Formats: sequence, structure tokens, C-alpha cells
Amino acid sequence: MIGIFGGTFDPIHYGHLRSALELKELFQLDHIRLIPCAQPVHRDEPNTTALQRLEMLQIAVQNQPDFIVDAQELERDGGSYTFHTLKKLRHDYPNESLLLFVGSDAFNGFTTWFRWQELFDLAHIVVITRPNSALNPLNDFFKSRLTNDKSQLKQPAGHVFFQEITQLAISATAIRGMIAAKHNPRFLLPDAVLDYIFKHQLYF
Ligand code: ATP
Repeated sequence: MIGIFGGTFDPIHYGHLRSALELKELFQLDHIRLIPCAQPVHRDEPNTTALQRLEMLQIAVQNQPDFIVDAQELERDGGSYTFHTLKKLRHDYPNESLLLFVGSDAFNGFTTWFRWQELFDLAHIVVITRPNSALNPLNDFFKSRLTNDKSQLKQPAGHVFFQEITQLAISATAIRGMIAAKHNPRFLLPDAVLDYIFKHQLYF
């Protein structure tokens, strides 16, 4: 079973890393793939370059071999579409169960995603809850895919599953704001990532 955790990671922080580790353990994943998006299609463009976001991710997970940084969306032309990412992973892992982790806030807009229904042919969707976020009522399509039985996730794809995890109230937006305001965001993200931010004078 392989986990897929996408994001802007501008910058990666302990909210992401702690969630990824919990998810890896909860679902006994072989590995979890952290996939930075190239041009976010659902939000404004980030301040940093794609390469800088990628390098911060690589620094953050260098001692965690079951966390894999997957740069495929940066290597592809055009926008970052989850559909293309899952297609590639399905091609690389034809029979594996793939779990796409989606925050509950992102899941509320899921039906606007490119070819969203076909994503269920490629992976399971695991919705993780985030502080202060409410879920919209499920449509019939989601209801028909819903399962509370984790063992069904051993199939390659097709279900939606809700998973509560401990979430740290950390956001990349807040970290960027702190740096701009000359406050110290230490202990919200790995020291090595913060060193990189200072060295490259990001977010000032
Ligand atoms: P920004 O503040 O710039 O929007 P972010 O901190 O929310 O960034 P993203 O890169 O947008 O980070 O998030 C990637 C994924 O990580 C999303 O699925 C998001 O829901 C999740 N995530 C972000 N922050 C946390 C957190 N503190 N705990 C758990 N999951 C988080």
C-alpha cells in the first residue's frame, strides 16, 4: 500500500511531516510519497521557485527512508493535475493499493478537480480532517464509494475513507507571515529547512 501526499509545501513544516508519519503507521504503508505541485491549480502561485520547494522537501525527509519525494509534477509541463499524477503511479505500480490523502478542506472542492470521478479508478481517496474545517454533505457518488472498513483499502482503488488524525495547528501561510514580520518560526519546521530559508532569504 502506497500513500500519496500532495501539496505546495511552501515551505514543508511539521504539520505535514507529523501527519505523513501518522498516516504511514495507521495504514501500514510501504512508503508515502510527498509530491510538490508545479503550478498550483487551486490556489495562487507560490513566492518561491518550484526547485526551492523541492529542495526544502528533500532536506526535511533526508533521514526518513520511507518518505519519498516525488518530483513528477515539477517535471511535467502545464498545470499539476492529480489525474496525471495518479495515472503515472498506476502505471508504475499496476496492482498496488494507492491511497490519495486529501485534507477535508480540499475534499470540499473535490468535484471541481479535473476528471475527479476517474480518480477513483486509479486510487482510494482518504480524507484527513484538519482543525476548524467542516465537511460538506456527501453527494451520491461519494456515498456509493464510502467505506468504514479499512480492509477494503487493500483493493487497488475505488473507495472514499475518512481518517481522523492528530493535527498540529501549523500552516505554511503562518510561517511565511512570521518570517516577513521578522518573528522566529523555529520548532514549527525542521531546523535544516529553516537554515535553507534564511540562506536563500525566502519569504522576507
Ligand atoms: P498554505 O498555508 O500555504 O495554504 P499549508 O500549510 O496548508 O499551506 P499545503 O502545502 O497547502 O500546506 O498542504 C499540503 C497538504 O497538507 C494538504 O492536504 C493540507 O491539508 C495538509 N496540511 C497542511 N497543514 C497541515 C497540518 N498542520 N496538519 C495536517 N495536515 C496539514
